[in-house]
Amino acid sequence: MKHAASAELFILDAPRTKWHDETLWFVRTKRDRAARQLPEWETLRETAAAIKAHTMSRLGDFLEQFEANAKKLGAVVHWAADAEEHNRIVLEILQSHGVKKLVKSKSMLTEECHLNPHLERHGIEVVDSDLGERIVQLAKEPPSHIVLPAIHFKKEDVGALFHKHLGTDAGASDPQYLAEAARGHLRGKFMAADAGLTGVNFAIAETGGFVICTNEGNADLGVSLPKLHIACMGIEKIIPRTADLGVFLRLLARSATGQPITTYSSHFHGPVAGGEMHIVLVDNGRTGILKSDEFRRSLNCIRCGACMNTCPVYRRSGGHSYHATVPGPIGSILSPAQDAAKHDSLPFACSLCGSCTDVCPVKIDLHHQLLTWRKEIADRGLLPRTKVWSMKLASAVLKRPRLYRLAGFFARKIVPHLPRFMIYNRFNAWGKQRELPEFPKESFRQQFKSRKRQ
Ligand code: SF4
Repeated sequence: MKHAASAELFILDAPRTKWHDETLWFVRTKRDRAARQLPEWETLRETAAAIKAHTMSRLGDFLEQFEANAKKLGAVVHWAADAEEHNRIVLEILQSHGVKKLVKSKSMLTEECHLNPHLERHGIEVVDSDLGERIVQLAKEPPSHIVLPAIHFKKEDVGALFHKHLGTDAGASDPQYLAEAARGHLRGKFMAADAGLTGVNFAIAETGGFVICTNEGNADLGVSLPKLHIACMGIEKIIPRTADLGVFLRLLARSATGQPITTYSSHFHGPVAGGEMHIVLVDNGRTGILKSDEFRRSLNCIRCGACMNTCPVYRRSGGHSYHATVPGPIGSILSPAQDAAKHDSLPFACSLCGSCTDVCPVKIDLHHQLLTWRKEIADRGLLPRTKVWSMKLASAVLKRPRLYRLAGFFARKIVPHLPRFMIYNRFNAWGKQRELPEFPKESFRQQFKSRKRQ
């Protein structure tokens, strides 16, 4: 389903749309306050962008350096070319250790690779231990946001879900009560797990260690109790030096939720005593993006979600309307790179307001890249024929002043009197939720003259 059609379904529930919009805007304003508290904010952004540009220019070298150092620390490093290979590697590790129960902390990469259903098909129970992830897992839905996976759920929805699955009181919606119920439920899952799987926020080439940022401490608990730790990371998560880490940690939490830092920034250097650590480095299309001059900078993303929280389209259409693992502005760049035909509508789910570019902590020129994707989609012949012809018509009119004036007359005098079915149909961009504007009685020239007379 295309983005516009899914968004149309989302906005049918007007109160929920308003609540979703306001909730994300609240997070955006928290981000603004946190950023304003640091006089060096813009310098940090510049530095982060420069570090990322340098890293991407020598990505292969840094990955090899990371692999060598991680091995020295006792980790086993695997390379996966795509999602299929990633899933196969993880399954083989788990099967070779006889794992039947796995706890997993938040990892958008494993969502991208559809790891959970793959493992479940092979008889392994997977429990997402991040509270938001657990909520969407119980609801059998994908996350709708990369930082706040269950942001589309109101507390009453969570209460009903927990009543069904965890046996909480019917009608309960107190966040404290629901969080305690989830904590009790997850505690049992942590205790019973045979292995823990995590994502990676930053992997440091010079040490071979990596950092995971959470607010719940679930990644730490998930890998502290069992002896087997699998860490899955996209190859773009690498940074060259430990000294670079502070720049990104200061930017990440402030941009994501307005916190100065995430509650836990946990450092891992090799396996725990008597345990095993496997690190899976995943490409899955990233080297293709790396080759592209236009879209390479999209690999700089540190997955803070700020571009989603600020995006007027995302806030009013919900994450699921993108039908992509990563929604919002950055997802609308990354997803077409994976499959342009499937995600051809996403670069158009954008008002080109540039707000995403303004908030991005690593200064990705998001709205410029979205515009470039529109051109790519057109060049590859993926635009719907109605759009192609309407653009050709608009171009013909805009090039000819007489025709333009005639079209203006038609729009002012004729269109408002046409039957509604001729205006509200699938061939135009008005959509069902918009009304035609009131057209002024006077022409623009008459208005201008009367204003001059005044
Ligand atoms: S593109 Fe920038 S703002 Fe969006 S999630 Fe990535 S780092 Fe954050």
